[in-house]
Amino acid sequence: MDHWSESEGKRVHDPIFQPRISQNCRQPVEEFCRERSKGAAVTRFERCTWVPGPIIVGAGPSGLAVAACLKEKGVDSLILERSNCIASLWQLKTYDRLSLHLPRQFCELPLMPFPADYPIYPSKEKFVAYLEKYAARFGICPSYNHAVVCAEYDEKLLLWRVRSQLTGKMEEEVEHISRWLVVATGENAEVVQPEIDGLKEFKGTVVHTSAYKTGRAFAGKRVLVVGCGNSGMEVCLDLCDHNAQPHIVVRDTVSDFLLLLLSLLF
Ligand SMILES: Cc1cc2nc3c(=O)[nH]c(=O)nc-3n(C[C@H](O)[C@H](O)[C@H](O)COP(=O)(O)OP(=O)(O)OC[C@H]3O[C@@H](n4cnc5c(N)ncnc54)[C@H](O)[C@@H]3O)c2cc1C
Repeated sequence: MDHWSESEGKRVHDPIFQPRISQNCRQPVEEFCRERSKGAAVTRFERCTWVPGPIIVGAGPSGLAVAACLKEKGVDSLILERSNCIASLWQLKTYDRLSLHLPRQFCELPLMPFPADYPIYPSKEKFVAYLEKYAARFGICPSYNHAVVCAEYDEKLLLWRVRSQLTGKMEEEVEHISRWLVVATGENAEVVQPEIDGLKEFKGTVVHTSAYKTGRAFAGKRVLVVGCGNSGMEVCLDLCDHNAQPHIVVRDTVSDFLLLLLSLLF
């Protein structure tokens, strides 16, 4: 698709370019929200709110960056985040020894560089501290504990209807209505654990890397690490540092470079 037809395609779905929509649409939408909330109060616990700016799903680095860039242009947004903090992947689902895998110049967010004294590969604590400062600097206050369960474009209203559930309260739902929706839910936010033959019969501990913190509990044990990506390699190193005996299993061929690395590690 060439550049022009791509942007044309996007315009077709963007309410701002629809001839039928105008600034006056706010009035009927607010009425719609009021009506929905009234009915919902009787049947189930559901509120309906009009969001004047874009809705952003996810308060990871991408969601924060989008919110900051919008703020810089004078546009307020609403971030819906299912966990209780920003950068939940980094804060809650990574191992203790983690530092950025890429040099810092590839990881900083727009409009605010890393502090000059940060190392080339900042630790996750430093990265999270930078993100906290970033959010504070741009006045970003996500709505935490809101897991988005559905986002639909309403052809009649010409608006996005985004439903979120309050964490741990399945029956409490809020419907947010806005002209714009940005999905920033990440590529690593969901655990992917393949079906492995015999795994159910295995009596030992099985841990996904998102729940692995340190190799301390594995001292003296033989551990099979499945997967030879960045995390698999680093977990192996961590296990070695904690006197465990890791073995790594790789689905595909391993490049000479990785073999060299492995031979240096073990
Ligand atoms: C071990 C490890 C090391 C990495 N190292 C680097 C690195 O050095 N450099 C780099 O650039 N990248 C690295 N990454 C990749 C990582 O994906 C990015 O750093 C970054 O976290 C991506 O940001 P994101 O905002 O797109 O997604 P995420 O950080 O995954 O954030 C997505 C957010 O969306 C929320 N969310 C998801 N679904 C919903 C929903 N339905 N409703 C509401 N909220 C929702 C999640 O809770 C989460 O907070 C690494 C990843 C891992 C796992």
